[in-house]
Amino acid sequence: MDSFRRVLSYARPLGRYWGPYLGLSVLSLVFGVLNYGLLGPLLSVLFEDPAAAARVAKPEAAFSLDYAMSWFQWLLQDISGTGGVLAALALVCGAIVAASLLSNLCRYLSARIVVDVETLTMKGLRKDLFSKIASLPVGWFTLRRKGDVLSSVTNDVSEVQNAVAGAFHVFLREPLLALGFMAMLVWMSPKLTLVSLVALPVSAFLVTMLTRRLRAGSVVTQRLLGLLTSHFEEAISGSRIIKAFSARPFVERAFERDNSRHRSQLRKVRNRQELASPVSEFLGIAVAAGVLFYGGWLNYRGELGMSWPEFIVYIMFYWKVLEPAKAMAKSYAVLQKGLVSAERIFSILDEEAGIPDGTQAVPEFREAVAFDHVSFAYDGEPVLRDVSLTIPKGHTVALVGPSGAGKSTLADLLPRFWDVAEGAVRIDGTDIRSLRLDELVKLMGIVTQDTILFNDTVAGNIAFGRDDVSREEVERAARIAGAAEFIEKLPEGYDTPIGDAGARLSGGQRQRIAIARAVLKDPPILILDEATSALDAENERIVQQALSSLMEGRTSLVIAHRLSTVRHADCICVVKDGRIVESGKHEDLVAKAGLYSQLCSLQDFS
Ligand code: ADP
Repeated sequence: MDSFRRVLSYARPLGRYWGPYLGLSVLSLVFGVLNYGLLGPLLSVLFEDPAAAARVAKPEAAFSLDYAMSWFQWLLQDISGTGGVLAALALVCGAIVAASLLSNLCRYLSARIVVDVETLTMKGLRKDLFSKIASLPVGWFTLRRKGDVLSSVTNDVSEVQNAVAGAFHVFLREPLLALGFMAMLVWMSPKLTLVSLVALPVSAFLVTMLTRRLRAGSVVTQRLLGLLTSHFEEAISGSRIIKAFSARPFVERAFERDNSRHRSQLRKVRNRQELASPVSEFLGIAVAAGVLFYGGWLNYRGELGMSWPEFIVYIMFYWKVLEPAKAMAKSYAVLQKGLVSAERIFSILDEEAGIPDGTQAVPEFREAVAFDHVSFAYDGEPVLRDVSLTIPKGHTVALVGPSGAGKSTLADLLPRFWDVAEGAVRIDGTDIRSLRLDELVKLMGIVTQDTILFNDTVAGNIAFGRDDVSREEVERAARIAGAAEFIEKLPEGYDTPIGDAGARLSGGQRQRIAIARAVLKDPPILILDEATSALDAENERIVQQALSSLMEGRTSLVIAHRLSTVRHADCICVVKDGRIVESGKHEDLVAKAGLYSQLCSLQDFS
């Protein structure tokens, strides 16, 4: 329930909503009661013997239901006496229509309040999820978690939204309606009502039994739904690979397996959920039949103490008591599902995998970036062991070596995508963990193999995240990155939406947009992680040129698969099994005839 309180806190201050909601529900209830209460006089007017109609005298004024009812009865008789039965009939029908109109109007207005709360919590949850996702460390998103998070953002949020409406019903409206109608029943006949009350705990117990295991089932269903979402994610982002490897049957089979599991689990949960309402309805009707029988029996013995129109109204109120009971059973089930979803959402929001921010302001970069006896492990699996490396300002250091050696991991430590396990990464001698993260990343530009392009215009993608840059600056950056020419040929030039152009851009073109982004950012430190690996020779040459102009005058850490691209680096470090096994200039390393020269000969390059 704590999660639920937390969900509702998104609509703070809640009093602004539940107060008016309760007020409108009371009004709706009063008019609803009136609506049904008026049926008694209607029946009397229609069917009772007019000769016996002179019974009611004008009642003494008082503030009570009794007075209101007797007064209306009296009024009716008065009107039918002067204007005839039809006039009385018209009055009753008019009153019924008016009461119903007001009751439903109040109900609608109260529903609008629930919609406010629902949409506010939905918006708040999505907002927090989005900022959390944007702040979580890069490595947090494994494929499974990606699916889970996506399904939380879509499905869990709407489950919670349903549950919010459910909560207003379960906790406020329905109990109020049930109590209101119950009060009417007690008022009309305490004796008869007492009998029916006995049945209530029995049905409550049965419904609780039915919905008890709903929650455990929901947890499994939501988890499976997360899995399904990750299948979709894979199919969309891996669409090329799936086709290229004719892997459709394979991925479809894997999807089908989880889809069936989800379906059968959901089926169990839903079947159980659907039971709640019919069972409570059946129990209600069984009890109502008992009441009818008992009432009939009392009437038979002349002990009922009600006229027959009153008895009919009594039975109608009885039906009305059943409705909130049914609605509560149903909403309770929705609430349970919503709670499971809320817990999933909060488990993401409470994820503490964030990188702790430092407090120190970042001074201007002057001397060197240094990895100082750095070790690192992913989940206990050591990846970097005691690595020391210094990159003096203005130098280019290249990391080469077999894949899986730990090169990207080493580069990821610099912008603090991960934190070292032992040792430290220092900029001008200061441990980067003590520096303010937002200022630290401002020092760095990163160009990787997979250029992420966002659903914005080309210019928006180059200026990415900054709205203080002019069109001229964007164009200048594009020119330096060698991207200006092809961008100008796009249908709307710099204003072409990437969403439309994305598929038409080649790998090299996308890469040049990413480079233009780095040029514009103008950082003193550059990290280039296999920036040209995915390109063909021609594109590689063009992109390499763009990179060279980008690297001019900056300090760069370059991870390269093709050794020819880093030949002129100030220092080349060969990484193997998480260690730097050789380092030096190209010529020196070749002369050493070690791992580097082996790698060179593998690539026919020396
Ligand atoms: P390289 O860049 O040299 O190819 P990486 O730094 O990418 O190597 O990877 C080094 C090792 O760490 C590999 O064995 C890889 O499987 C593992 N690894 C990389 N990223 C993760 C991650 N997010 N979680 C767990 N293991 C990882």
